[in-house]
Amino acid sequence: MNKPLKQHLIDPEICIRCYTCEMTCPLEAITHDDNNVVVDAEKCNFCMDCIPVCPTGSIDEWRIVTTPYSLDEQFGWEDLPEQKDLGDSGGEVEALDDTIEALLAEAHKGAGGRSRAPASAAKPTVNLYNLGKPATARVQGTYRLTSEESGAEVRHIILDFGNQSLPVLEGQSIGITPPGVDAKGKPHLPRLYSVSSPRDGERPHYNNLSLTVKREDGGVCSTYLCDLKMGDEVKVTGPFGATFLMPDDPSARLLMICTGTGSAPFRAFTMRRQRVAAGASGDMVMFFGARTPDSLPYFGPLNKVPERLLKKHLVFSRIPGVAKEYVQDRMMVEQEVIAEMLADPATHIYICGLKGMEQGVEQSFKNIAESTGMPWEATRDVMRDEGRYHVETY
Ligand SMILES: Cc1cc2nc3c(=O)[nH]c(=O)nc-3n(C[C@H](O)[C@H](O)[C@H](O)COP(=O)(O)OP(=O)(O)OC[C@H]3O[C@@H](n4cnc5c(N)ncnc54)[C@H](O)[C@@H]3O)c2cc1C
Repeated sequence: MNKPLKQHLIDPEICIRCYTCEMTCPLEAITHDDNNVVVDAEKCNFCMDCIPVCPTGSIDEWRIVTTPYSLDEQFGWEDLPEQKDLGDSGGEVEALDDTIEALLAEAHKGAGGRSRAPASAAKPTVNLYNLGKPATARVQGTYRLTSEESGAEVRHIILDFGNQSLPVLEGQSIGITPPGVDAKGKPHLPRLYSVSSPRDGERPHYNNLSLTVKREDGGVCSTYLCDLKMGDEVKVTGPFGATFLMPDDPSARLLMICTGTGSAPFRAFTMRRQRVAAGASGDMVMFFGARTPDSLPYFGPLNKVPERLLKKHLVFSRIPGVAKEYVQDRMMVEQEVIAEMLADPATHIYICGLKGMEQGVEQSFKNIAESTGMPWEATRDVMRDEGRYHVETY
């Protein structure tokens, strides 16, 4: 069998036949007939010049193939073929995709079924860069968000992508592959990190993004990231994730529950609303758990976000002399607010953080829903199928 390769394709159902991509491609790899605009796999070198100029996003399509689709095949399509099952081909690209898929599937397991993107979310770009062809970013900034005394080191790391295009939506992740090899002499597998800045950049209209990384004792990738210095180069894959996305609809109400670095996507959501829809009718409510205020990432900046934009419940479990409180406890205290939001079809629920938080949060939702006569599992399943219930835990 041929070595699997990733083939760049254009979605004929979405393409508006403006031919901007064809005019932009420096290799003349894109061509068209009366029916479709198509990519020649023999000429395409993944330079990505065509990606940002496409007005529709129809250009962000990829399939792993052992024999590339020919131009004639593509001219005949009315829609894109599904990804074929390639069986045991052992390709590097395929292996990476499997790793990422497995990480995401595991991270979204708590949703109780297959997650869906919110109906009004923008179409995400995924898998633009892979191990064979990663993007190269430079560290533009790195600073510690948590105090030395707190014991936990969480860093805000800003990566600049120069002139490479890496379009991300709020809620997506990128892959970082630490350099070097593991104990068996094999290259390290990539790790996923949620993007904590909005789609237009950490700084508006700069080609940069931020991550919120916790240093794990003995952790290969988090140690690598937390030790990076200004100007260091980092290899990046992705973007990844097509469901844990923010609705673009400004009337959508967001109920966000997180611990630790699970706050990363919610920083992006909040900044997005602040930048483009500060007067949105949809409210945002956050339950954020940490041990102490100085171990809660973004404690200072979060407190400056006006309550009318983001209603914050910062919950602490290790304040000396104060009873332990976890996010699920505060949810019970605020059960009237949550019950009202659960009953509103405009509400979207997002849960992000450590796996251990899921059970308690789920139980509080169950208690609250059932106290108002709503069967929790059925309510959750409807919300999930409507793209309004999202879990990302790791
Ligand atoms: C969708 C998704 C989004 C994510 N987003 C974020 C994010 O925004 N921020 C973030 O910080 N993380 C995030 N993660 C987690 C991240 O991908 C990594 O799993 C995490 O950083 C740990 O990776 P590591 O390479 O440092 O640890 P690994 O080397 O993979 O080790 C895993 C664990 O084993 C322990 N360990 C390893 N070796 C030793 C040893 N010799 N002795 C003792 N203990 C050891 C480490 O402490 C660590 O807890 C996300 C994960 C997913 C799936």
